[in-house]
Amino acid sequence: MRKELEQRLVERWPKWFNVNGDIRYTAMARGFEHDDGWFDILWRLCEDLEPLVAESERTTGCPFEVLQVKEKFGGLRFYVNCRGNDAINQRIGMAADESFRTCEICGQPGKLREGRCIKTLCDEHVGATRGRHWLS
Ligand SMILES: [Zn+2]
Repeated sequence: MRKELEQRLVERWPKWFNVNGDIRYTAMARGFEHDDGWFDILWRLCEDLEPLVAESERTTGCPFEVLQVKEKFGGLRFYVNCRGNDAINQRIGMAADESFRTCEICGQPGKLREGRCIKTLCDEHVGATRGRHWLS
């Protein structure tokens, strides 16, 4: 994702996204490993997580942290520490469902495309991935 967009999330939730952390513990130093179209999904996810995380931190004492955010097989993966609780995991699952209906490049309605690689894209961007190396 573009650095400006990543920065907005990191500045808003600095404790959750440890972009300067040890790579052996958190992958966030590599950034958000997906395209810009999912920014809104992430932003809404984090806003909704705020009260759930506060509750979880109160009951478990485990400071919430996001360890990796990436695209895999056309969907958004959002890995957190502490295994979360049911409410947190459910909300993360909703964001993943949303990503399968949202073009990863532009955020318009999209669907899963299974070609040489699997991506969720709108009609306009379905051709845009050709020749690009998506899977890493
Ligand atoms: Zn698109």
